Amino acid sequence: KPVSEPKPDWIRIKLTTGDNYQDIKNMMRSKTLHTVCEEARCPNIYECWANRTATFMILGETCTRACRFCAVNTGMPTELDLEEPNRVAEAAVKMNLNHCVVTSVARDDLQDGGAAIFAATISALRSRLPLCSVEVLIPDFLGNEDSLRIVMEAKPDILNHNIETVERLSDRVRAKAKYRRSLELLYRAKAMKPDIPTKSSIMLGVGEEWEEILQAMDDLRAVDCDILTIGQYLQPSPQHLRVEKYYTPEQFAELKAEGLKRGFSHVESGPLVRSSYHAHEQVKSAKRH
Ligand code: SF4
Ligand code: SF4
Repeated sequence: KPVSEPKPDWIRIKLTTGDNYQDIKNMMRSKTLHTVCEEARCPNIYECWANRTATFMILGETCTRACRFCAVNTGMPTELDLEEPNRVAEAAVKMNLNHCVVTSVARDDLQDGGAAIFAATISALRSRLPLCSVEVLIPDFLGNEDSLRIVMEAKPDILNHNIETVERLSDRVRAKAKYRRSLELLYRAKAMKPDIPTKSSIMLGVGEEWEEILQAMDDLRAVDCDILTIGQYLQPSPQHLRVEKYYTPEQFAELKAEGLKRGFSHVESGPLVRSSYHAHEQVKSAKRH
């Protein structure tokens, strides 16, 4: 097949803009800040910003890896910016966020993979915006346990690390990352700080089988992962991995039920679900457990 299947109707986005959205948008323009929400052209931006949730990308805009589904630029990363944690915190204050997600490119060029900057960002957010919950969506730090410890010691409200896809497709879809290493990371995070909820995400439509999705859920529950998000992969450009299948909203609902049956405290599953979608609700539900 030369091209992806056409997008079904349920993928089309309903555009509704509220006041909060416009406030934040204006602020972003004036401060030239970077959020994943804008740069990845996330379909949920109106809803998330209206709920005062946003995702910041730290450690630069150039990644040392080149995953086949991801639109981030690959190349030589920029120098480390030690002021970045403060700038993120300042922006979060201006946005008056309730929930701040902090993620990064993979910085395999750095000894700690950028863990210290993650920790400093969590601390900066805590001191400037004490009521805002902080979720970190971290890379695998090439399996470096010390790096993970640095992040966990800063006590994020949610520790998120995505397995992205089922085991069989992992090496094809993700660059350098390993399925088992990602599970190990989630396992270790829980062992280090049992009270901090862990979270992971699977994107569908890259060629996985139904049974393999269920197996991935079992694998995540085996390492005590608390929160799961499942969304539809959308091809960012013709050079990226092709969409093999669009799942229906009913299938997403069925997967949500399968996830809850397996004991996840919170499952977000839907065509437009992204890793940080409805994240502010997950903090509450995870903490009930
Ligand atoms: Fe931003 Fe994440 Fe919401 Fe998308 S789902 S708009 S990336 S916070
Ligand atoms: Fe994109 Fe992350 Fe892969 Fe880098 S490591 S290419 S940012 S998904």
